[in-house]
Amino acid sequence: MSDTPASADAPARTDFIRQIVRDDLASGKHAAIKTRFPPEPNGYLHIGHAKAICLDFGIAAEFGGSCNLRLDDTNPAKEDPEYVRAIQDDVRWLGFDWASLRHASDYFEVFYLAAEKLIRQGDAFVCDLTPEQVREYRGTLTEPGRESPYRNRSVEENLDLFRRMRAGEFADGARTLRAKIDMASGNINLRDPALYRIKHVEHQNTGNAWPIYPMYDFAHSLSDAIEGITHSLCTLEFEDHRPLYDWCVDKVDLANNPELLAPLVAKGLPLEAGKPRQIEFSRLNFNYLVMSKRKLLALVEEGLVDGWDDPRMPTLQGIRRRGYTPSALKLMVERVGISKQNSLLDISILEGALRDDLDAHAPRRMAVLDPLKLVLTNLDASHEETLTFSNHPKDAAQGERGIPFARELWIEREDFEEVPPPGFKRLTVGGEVRLRGAGIVRCDTVVKDADGRIVELHGTLDPASRPGMEGANRKVKGTIHWVSAKHAVPAEIRLYDRLFTVPNPDTDEDGKTYRDYLNPDSRRVVTGYVEPAAAQAAPEQGFQFERLGYFVADRYDHRSDAPVFNRSVTLRDTWSQKG
Ligand code: ATP
Ligand code: MG
Repeated sequence: MSDTPASADAPARTDFIRQIVRDDLASGKHAAIKTRFPPEPNGYLHIGHAKAICLDFGIAAEFGGSCNLRLDDTNPAKEDPEYVRAIQDDVRWLGFDWASLRHASDYFEVFYLAAEKLIRQGDAFVCDLTPEQVREYRGTLTEPGRESPYRNRSVEENLDLFRRMRAGEFADGARTLRAKIDMASGNINLRDPALYRIKHVEHQNTGNAWPIYPMYDFAHSLSDAIEGITHSLCTLEFEDHRPLYDWCVDKVDLANNPELLAPLVAKGLPLEAGKPRQIEFSRLNFNYLVMSKRKLLALVEEGLVDGWDDPRMPTLQGIRRRGYTPSALKLMVERVGISKQNSLLDISILEGALRDDLDAHAPRRMAVLDPLKLVLTNLDASHEETLTFSNHPKDAAQGERGIPFARELWIEREDFEEVPPPGFKRLTVGGEVRLRGAGIVRCDTVVKDADGRIVELHGTLDPASRPGMEGANRKVKGTIHWVSAKHAVPAEIRLYDRLFTVPNPDTDEDGKTYRDYLNPDSRRVVTGYVEPAAAQAAPEQGFQFERLGYFVADRYDHRSDAPVFNRSVTLRDTWSQKG
């Protein structure tokens, strides 16, 4: 294979899509590639869309091409500007930018002219069958369909009826414009599919200008052709639609019929029509999640979560708030790879990518989630010092910070046991443990309230074990984390966990739905204490709280004087052990 300059720069990833792109550049079929990401603004984007975004935008960038963001707004009833804003926010968050922001509705005039061209060519007709009749006539996988009795209308009659559809003369569903292809085709998508339907519904962009709306396959294929998309990447369910996609592109032939693009010139949109190639790849699916927009909408509308950006939701707005990073998602997409085989992946692949990304990049901090006071009785009440901690054990470039240390500390309640189980390596009465970075402490006495509940521990810090002293490296069994009671900042900590308790909440078996498998412990809120440097975090800054997990300062609710942290993921995959 010979290398053009554009492909020479690209990293040698060898999936089949990149190989096609490489070949097309090498053969000179395209001077530059052009892709698009075409979400329908009828819901928020989810983790699956992240894969499509990384492919569409990522491949364009890798090969020196460009990628459009196109809002596929051909179905006015379900679309909303709120979704449009979130989609743009999500794409930018992932680190991508579009060459041009388009709407399928920008092209409504072109679609209309293209439909008239098909009618004039004898490739489309106006059909008066009712939706039920259309279904009846369509046939099945094993039986051919029957031709509509309206199929042989004259061009003149078809043009007249189509223009009157456009003028709003007929009721919803009274007529359709259908392609004239082949009612006996083995591919049902080619059995005279509808191209236009009547729908008297206001559209978010075009208002009441159109009482007819184009069908998906017609609008999508022509939008790609209009924009000069070279490689139109989509998910596998569109594989059977590819012959229709190609039929629309070929029969309309925008590249050789520039007069059809005249309405775009009037709008100042560039003319760049070409012949796109559709390439399908497998959908991304994970267990323990539901990922269809319809079901996510139901979770929101039924109040089962706190909105689209609830950190338990698999929406990009949700996982962003949960503490997922763009680099973790890109890592996941890379690890999953691209294939033509749909599968249900284990959620540990997603969580593992986040852990690996945060392990490498997130600064370390100390926080205590279930506080128990430890008083170091051999320090003065006024004792205060600042200990120096590195921000990251493997990345010196992250620098150091000071952590205040004093006589009274908060430690984790579960790090003390009065009656230690066998093998317990943390604090017990008379036992010793290392206070991370501060020295070795022995617990002397336990203070209890009237109900016998432990309220405080008293202990002694070994002066010879302090940092820099000769006994600093003395061996003890365990190390625990702590914060200074006087200096730590109380924080709301939201302990998120998986939203569903079963790997496949979506089977609809035994009359049960995903609603029956909601995890009642998917969100627990506790008040803990964080070291001052954690409270100072900017919203969305992520940390490893030592020994506890990865946490992120909440995007909306965190303030330095009232910190709010969300647990992004635990340190290890404790679920697989639980299950
Ligand atoms: P859903 O079925 O979840 O409601 P959708 O396919 O209707 O999603 P669109 O807005 O039509 O969502 O999708 C925009 C683009 O994202 C399409 O190219 C689609 O193929 C792709 N996409 C959607 N879901 C996934 C997924 N799970 N994995 C990979 N790509 C996806
Ligand atoms: Mg869709």
